[in-house]
Amino acid sequence: MANIKKIGVFTSGGDSPGMNAAIRSVVRTCAYLNVECVGIYWGYQGMIKGDFKLMNARSVHNIINKGGTILKTARCEEFRTKEGRKKAYDQLQAAGIDAFVVIGGDGSFTGAMIFNQEFGFPVIGIPGTIDNDIFGTTFTLGFDTALNTVVEAIDKIRDTASSHNRLFFVEVMGRDVGHIALNAGVGAGAEEILIPEENLGRERLLESLKRSRSSGKSSSIVIVAEGDKTGKNIFELKEYVEANFPDYEVRVSVLGHMQRGGAPSCYDRVLASRMGVRAVEALLEGKTNLMVGVQDNQLILTPINKAIKGHTKIDKELIRVSEIMST
Ligand code: ADP
Repeated sequence: MANIKKIGVFTSGGDSPGMNAAIRSVVRTCAYLNVECVGIYWGYQGMIKGDFKLMNARSVHNIINKGGTILKTARCEEFRTKEGRKKAYDQLQAAGIDAFVVIGGDGSFTGAMIFNQEFGFPVIGIPGTIDNDIFGTTFTLGFDTALNTVVEAIDKIRDTASSHNRLFFVEVMGRDVGHIALNAGVGAGAEEILIPEENLGRERLLESLKRSRSSGKSSSIVIVAEGDKTGKNIFELKEYVEANFPDYEVRVSVLGHMQRGGAPSCYDRVLASRMGVRAVEALLEGKTNLMVGVQDNQLILTPINKAIKGHTKIDKELIRVSEIMST
């Protein structure tokens, strides 16, 4: 057992639903195991400033169902510098914090890993991002909720699309990866799904839309991940399709930040609760520089450097299913 008596917990980078459930789990696990727990506000920014608050089991009541993060989150340029990280280390030392749990994405983990290398400070990561782009876990916190949010929005867009015989381009989050687009696209029955991992070209898109039209479809939904390169952007793609395929009225809907909000799904709440317990236990077992992930419904620990470097691959089987479903 490591000699850890006080654990810090914070959220960092982009927020995602389920972060509160993870904070709650870390705080309650500490309380259960008689370890002190300190909430660090505003991510690395708050760490540098010493924005800390001692938390107990009651500090986290009524938050499992809330989106966002009660500890707030921030991006912090200063933490990218050695001087900034030294300030953060001094603050943690002064507060008697022996280890921390970071809930965040790729960038937050990189910061934690560097911090661990420089100061030998024990760190464990919990993947909190709607993008699901972290290696070492099949699901990140917030992904499932974001999918449900997107599917619900597309269902509504479909109602208006089919009432007017319109073609809708719906942009969803995913600058580098198409997990949200692909999964929500299949779930919402989209005709086409455009993702950054696959660029099949505009002509193929036109052909496919024409095929759908001649097979009797009167409206269509095309899901476009933010980072897709089929068009310069979704508006330019709309203009291209309108110019070359006048049969449809084309509309664009950019879902934007609503995808990050909302009450976490049951899946995300359960996953967050499990990951929080495992993160605290791992620190007390003397483990460090690891991320808690889930694979085959079992919790696993992956070295943070692998979680950062190894990008998750898009599910080819799901691409095939989406092709078959849009027949
Ligand atoms: P996310 O965790 O959602 O990927 P960011 O990429 O914005 O979000 O990273 C969150 C924060 O992590 C950054 O604002 C910065 O403070 C810290 N961070 C990211 N990359 C590094 C790095 N290379 N060195 C030190 N800190 C970093």
